[in-house]
Amino acid sequence: MHYNVSRRDFLKLCGGTAAMLGLSQAWIPQIARALEQAAKRPPVVWLSFQSCSGCFESFAKADYPDVATIVLDIISLNYQEVIMAGAGAQSEKNLADTVAAGGYITIVEGAIATGIPEAMMVGGKTSEEILGEVTANSAATIAVGTCATYGGVQAMNPNPTGAKGVGDVINTPVINIPGCPSNPDTMVSTITYYLLYKKVPKLDSKGRPKFAFSQKVHDNCQRRAHFDSGEYVEEFGSEEAAQNYCLYKMGCKGPETHSPCPLTLWNSKQNWCIGCGNGCIGCMEPDFWDEFAGFYDTLPDVPVPGFIGVKRSSDYIGSTLVTATMTGIGIHAIATAAKGRFKENDDISEGSDD
Ligand code: SF4
Ligand code: SF4
Repeated sequence: MHYNVSRRDFLKLCGGTAAMLGLSQAWIPQIARALEQAAKRPPVVWLSFQSCSGCFESFAKADYPDVATIVLDIISLNYQEVIMAGAGAQSEKNLADTVAAGGYITIVEGAIATGIPEAMMVGGKTSEEILGEVTANSAATIAVGTCATYGGVQAMNPNPTGAKGVGDVINTPVINIPGCPSNPDTMVSTITYYLLYKKVPKLDSKGRPKFAFSQKVHDNCQRRAHFDSGEYVEEFGSEEAAQNYCLYKMGCKGPETHSPCPLTLWNSKQNWCIGCGNGCIGCMEPDFWDEFAGFYDTLPDVPVPGFIGVKRSSDYIGSTLVTATMTGIGIHAIATAAKGRFKENDDISEGSDD
């Protein structure tokens, strides 16, 4: 197989994937071998339903370096409405042929319209019909983005089209990679995991790969020391904002959001939401459009460092915890060091992942 990247860049990708999967750098040769030996190019069908296509845009711009090229060389993207050359009957025949042959990976972007099925149709079939037909013979199903995983903005109250995530519509297992959009590194790592182990990774209770979603944004945030010290931004454009203080009082949902964003970053690892000065809006959590609105309202009842197991309001933090914060900083630093940047994945090391 020929890659349009140098060997050095290819190994860099493998190193990034190893980190995401919670593996040591000693696994790089094994990951490289698994990718190189995927010579059969497992076919992939990418279905697009109720969405803005932002997740495919995110995937196509996967970096480090030119991951899109590598992944498109490794897999055979047999059906993807945004980029496929064919159209109409020809593209629908490609899809039917792939489904008949079996052994493919299905990636779904966008919500399924179950209340008003006609709201989302392709080639004369509803989203629910297409999803059922394609996933019935699929080797693995991956839902990408918060729309495909949990319904997304379409499912926001009052949910006029009855939008649902893939896992709520089909009975076979679904790997959920939420986000608005989903992160390309997480998508690539999940596909690599599947090629490496020939099985789906361990999932959390919301169907997300544990290797990426075990920790909260708050656990690895670059502003965490300010949270622990009771130093908050209370107005955009203020001196505290310029000092990169914690955005908790500006509505940051990082304490309740499971996501590797502080570690993967975005836009070729240039920056991320909190790095840009805006709080996390919790886009990787189910129903975030309803549950976390308004986006600038302060989260209630966030546990305060130094008072493990006790809940306190944000006003209490910073005004009374002068001594407790030092304890909190120590606890957080030790806990973070103990966990490592990504959570150690014992399941992968042991090779057991039922
Ligand atoms: S509240 Fe938000 S900005 Fe503050 S430390 Fe937590 S994740 Fe970071
Ligand atoms: S930081 Fe929060 S809002 Fe931003 S992409 Fe990550 S989970 Fe979504």
